[in-house]
Amino acid sequence: MTANLNKTKQPNIILINCDDLGYGDLTCYGSRCNDTPHVDQLAAEGVQFTDFYMAAPVCSASRAAMLTGCYSQRIGFADYQVLFPGQAQGLNSKESTIARQLKKVGYDTKIIGKWHCGDQPEFLPTKHGFDEYFGIPYSNDMGRQVNALDRPPLPLLRNDEVIQQQPDQRGITERYVDESLQFMRRDRKNPFFLYLAHMYVHVPLFIPKQFLDVSRNGAYGGAVACIDWAMGMIDAELNRLGIKDETLVIFTSDNGSRVWGEGGSNAPLRGTKAETWEGGQRVPCIMRWPGKIAAGTTCEGIASSIDLFATLAELTGAPLPADTTLDSISLVETLMEGKPTRRDVFAYYKGPNLEAVRKGDWKLHFCKIGWAPSGLYAQVLAELYNLRDDVGEAHNVYDRHPEIVAEIEVAAEEFRRVFGDRRLGRVGTEIREAGVCKNPKPLTEFNVDHPYMIAYYDLADMPTMSG
Ligand code: MG
Repeated sequence: MTANLNKTKQPNIILINCDDLGYGDLTCYGSRCNDTPHVDQLAAEGVQFTDFYMAAPVCSASRAAMLTGCYSQRIGFADYQVLFPGQAQGLNSKESTIARQLKKVGYDTKIIGKWHCGDQPEFLPTKHGFDEYFGIPYSNDMGRQVNALDRPPLPLLRNDEVIQQQPDQRGITERYVDESLQFMRRDRKNPFFLYLAHMYVHVPLFIPKQFLDVSRNGAYGGAVACIDWAMGMIDAELNRLGIKDETLVIFTSDNGSRVWGEGGSNAPLRGTKAETWEGGQRVPCIMRWPGKIAAGTTCEGIASSIDLFATLAELTGAPLPADTTLDSISLVETLMEGKPTRRDVFAYYKGPNLEAVRKGDWKLHFCKIGWAPSGLYAQVLAELYNLRDDVGEAHNVYDRHPEIVAEIEVAAEEFRRVFGDRRLGRVGTEIREAGVCKNPKPLTEFNVDHPYMIAYYDLADMPTMSG
């Protein structure tokens, strides 16, 4: 344990995870069309990461990886990158999560918002170390829509119980904030872990009028503003309760933005959500712990959401799970002492396929797997980029650096050995199984006589994909 941690009281931890918020969507990351004063303030008071990666470019895999400190392939999510209502698979109850580990050292734990690691009773947050849950358990586009009538009504859960179906999404963030503040306010003896997993900016975008009216970036800007408002409310409450100095706040996003016309931005990065170009997986990340993390600093080292597990374990004295391999590398020395991050290599998997590997400043692309009307295709690539000089992955220097290509190939082979690479017919040797439910069924069922608040979510906002 780092020396100056020994005298440190266990901090409260607030982990804020946005949905599909892109690298270029916050003012402090360069946005010129969204206004994010409260998140910018968080950055001014903490450390802002420039090279922070989610372990997957889509939702379920990204979230399961972050909570378990493992690449999603290790925990059996290679084929379950986006879980759908009533799906049989979910996060295996044998896996350790951040919440479960923090409970072992006395934390009160709550998740508010999007879970998306399985909606069957055995996979819900209360089975994974969270004392309480309030939220929509998967994506907000998975409810009933005029052209998705086969989908069950969108559920809102309190713990394991559906308390509302097809809620008005304009009010969801306000309800999430209210739940967050109530949880923070409790007269408590224990430190708390609050995981606030926003609905925004995942489509469809239903926005409270007051945010829409002042947005310079349409509904998307309104959603970003609402996320920023939530940050302001949490900070106001931390101040009011006098616990800001004993609270670590982490702000991030589950994957890059869709940049398909809704107003999102991954600038200056290339690519979009669901891709292994930087824009799919490199996301905003800010951490603040007054007096412990130096204010107004930047971290340019490679770091990942899967590193939060070891980081929070070290900060709180929580045990690492016995006899279980993780992929998590603690960031405590970086946070507390400003040392470089210890992660030198990062694998970009899309599902079961290894698409790229980063080592140091260099990133080597092997392929891109996609979908076309004719079916699944694999585009083989031999492209090398120096991300320090060329963050937009525009200048392929593969032919000029065979020695670097060879070095990254060695690292890639190790990932293939451990996690496999289906395109090459490789099967991983260190893959654990996802949980499987025997008789899965959706949490809700459409009832023509039920007085839904919103019977069908807006047609015009129907997305083409989820996650
Ligand atoms: Mg997402």
